[in-house]
Amino acid sequence: MSPAQGPADECPRLEENLSSCSCTYTSCPRRGQCCLCVVHHREQNQLPGCFFPPEIEKTYDRSYERFAQLYS
Ligand code: SF4
Repeated sequence: MSPAQGPADECPRLEENLSSCSCTYTSCPRRGQCCLCVVHHREQNQLPGCFFPPEIEKTYDRSYERFAQLYS
């Protein structure tokens, strides 16, 4: 974890975000910090897990292509 992600900078909505997070990768260090999820996945041409229905989310295929398939 970088200094910018330390406790002093913890998301003020962390608990609320965690209570509604549908991502099944529970050991992810970004979990509950949605802005970090977006940046991380955008850098990999992906979307965060919460954009996918449960049966797709659990495959960890978070690609733009999979998302487009779902809604085409
Ligand atoms: S959506 Fe991605 S970055 Fe966010 S908690 Fe899940 S695996 Fe981690």
